Amino acid sequence: MINNKNTKPICSQCGAELIFVKKETIQPEGTRYPQTNIVYRCSNDECQKKKDKEKVERIKLRQNQAITQKERMEKIQEKRKMGQKAKVQQN
Ligand SMILES: [Zn+2]
Repeated sequence: MINNKNTKPICSQCGAELIFVKKETIQPEGTRYPQTNIVYRCSNDECQKKKDKEKVERIKLRQNQAITQKERMEKIQEKRKMGQKAKVQQN
């Protein structure tokens, strides 16, 4: 008999065993029920380092996009204000 419950999860990137880190409960926006997310790390240090780096870069990219969007909005608002002022001065 094979007991599948004892089968350790394997990294989809390198095929090394995954190490259980933590269980976290998250509730994604717009959903009614929380989800249980099991966090693993790869037992292959090189692979895990790569994953960590990718994760940091993803977060950075998201933050940059948010900042860019905010800056763009501010610039548009500023231009509008400037435009109004210019019109007032012309009159
Ligand atoms: Zn891996």
